[in-house]
Amino acid sequence: MIIVLAKGASDDEKRNIIKRIEGLGLAVHISEGKERTIIGAIGDESILIEKPINSMPGVESVMPILKPYKLVSRDFQSEDTIINIDGIEIGGKKIQCIAGPCSVESEEGLLETAKAVNTTGTVFLRGGAFKPRTSPYSFQGLGEQGLKFLKEAKDATGMKIVTELMDPRDLDVIYKYADVIQIGARNMQNFRLLKDVGGIDKPILLKRGLSATIKELLMSAEYIASEGNRRIMLCERGIRTFETETRNTLDVTAIAVIKKLSHLPVIVDPSHAVGRWDLVAAASKAAVAAGADGLIIEVHNDPQNALCDGSQSLKPEKYIALYEELKKVAAAVGRSL
Ligand code: PEP
Ligand code: MN
Repeated sequence: MIIVLAKGASDDEKRNIIKRIEGLGLAVHISEGKERTIIGAIGDESILIEKPINSMPGVESVMPILKPYKLVSRDFQSEDTIINIDGIEIGGKKIQCIAGPCSVESEEGLLETAKAVNTTGTVFLRGGAFKPRTSPYSFQGLGEQGLKFLKEAKDATGMKIVTELMDPRDLDVIYKYADVIQIGARNMQNFRLLKDVGGIDKPILLKRGLSATIKELLMSAEYIASEGNRRIMLCERGIRTFETETRNTLDVTAIAVIKKLSHLPVIVDPSHAVGRWDLVAAASKAAVAAGADGLIIEVHNDPQNALCDGSQSLKPEKYIALYEELKKVAAAVGRSL
């Protein structure tokens, strides 16, 4: 249920309402908006039908949340969530780019790429240390050594680290190094992993599963939010279709659909969506035009010799040129880069 408090409801009234809801065995989630406070009562809602709270002082209205996802829905919070990471905002007017190699491969290569992308003003560095590869014989990532290289690049540039967590057993080590923890497409419905990252205080970049519907993506975000962590970015990274010219199909409309259904920021990954470096620019521009709050783009200093996803990686100079183009698209839709 959503309990909308009256404008100007007093702190005492608010406390009494919360006490009553908790007393009925429901969990309370509070959303303090600019205009109003909304209380989400999560659990068996039928109890609120038997024991109504509409008449309590300070309550304006009580509505059921009809969607299966609640905390992440626009019904629960009408204002956009803006995630603040050490003063950098994701979900505000400025579009944030996350750039870097698919996987961390070497200290020098990573540093070269980080420094190059950072010249544009890009402040998030991506790089996988634990890689979800289709083949067990493919490069699996450098593990903690890769995280140490990311830390060195962070120390050298001041960039924030975005890196993937694949397994709950690696949470402690990833937590030590990451500023944003990525949950990959293949793990979107690893509910144990989602609950674990729901219990920590780091922002999460949740990628849409290869064949997941938008509703399933939102339900997975709800797993994270229901454990307390509300700093979630949703990532559209292309879905499986019958088309074979591209690795996946970028679902551009998902950006607008998610923005209607949820208050969470939307990040687009054009690299995994198209799987070809020559289409990354077009997909990135489409994403910004459609309302994305950020992009995560694979950039490699030597794509031809990359150990992972070289064919979809931009060379640093191509990324820098694209960044300039994106500024114009962003300006055209009232955003900045
Ligand atoms: C990645 O970002 O490196 C990655 C593996 O992406 P996805 O989980 O979307 O396939
Ligand atoms: Mn990749």
